[in-house]
Amino acid sequence: MLRNYIQTQQARLMEQQNSFYTPNGIHVYVDSPLSNKDIDLEKLISKVENTIPSHLLSEVEMVIVGWFDEFEERKINAFYKDGTLHVSNIQEDMEDMYDDVIHEIAHSLETPYGYEIYGDKKIEKEFLRKRKYLYDTLWKMGYKIPLSVFMDPEYNEDLDLFLYEKIGYDKLSHIVEGIFISAYAPTSLREYFATGFTEYYLDSNHEFLSKVSPALYQKLSLLQKPEKLDNST
Ligand SMILES: [Zn+2]
Repeated sequence: MLRNYIQTQQARLMEQQNSFYTPNGIHVYVDSPLSNKDIDLEKLISKVENTIPSHLLSEVEMVIVGWFDEFEERKINAFYKDGTLHVSNIQEDMEDMYDDVIHEIAHSLETPYGYEIYGDKKIEKEFLRKRKYLYDTLWKMGYKIPLSVFMDPEYNEDLDLFLYEKIGYDKLSHIVEGIFISAYAPTSLREYFATGFTEYYLDSNHEFLSKVSPALYQKLSLLQKPEKLDNST
């Protein structure tokens, strides 16, 4: 029957759109449909593959689009875990989603390239200098948080919530202007790296990033050169 045939074809087409492999072999799977129907996922992932050098994409085996408990628990909209990039299906537009994907690719590189990224502590020193500045500024504004909290490069949920909810990112963006590239960059050393990585690929000019975070910029430039990296161990 014609009707049945059309239904089968439609179902097949839907399945194809919900699950596909990219030329680099990344499996893209849509668990919950995207809130914005204008987002072309194949186009978006293809843009990612054309922008990020292939040696920096090797950790990502799968991209799942959907809604996960972690998003609610941690108030995030994407995370990377065990070779899989989880991205929220609730997205404003293509750019919004593209940023999230690039950001999580940065996190995928922290284990294989951990030594190259953090080993010489250059990014950490730069990050903590900026954190000290932020501490001083907030202290003057009446926010008396112990210095030890700001001098710890690891993620601290209380500090994250303090910056995100108590101060708020609108206000924080002004406070950190010229010090951090965004309000999210001071969150932790790992987020400092991931926000810088994202900026590196979003703005090919690099002027802003290299000026605000020179050590981070140098490190990101090094990551572009596979021959300079040794992640064989
Ligand atoms: Zn992150």
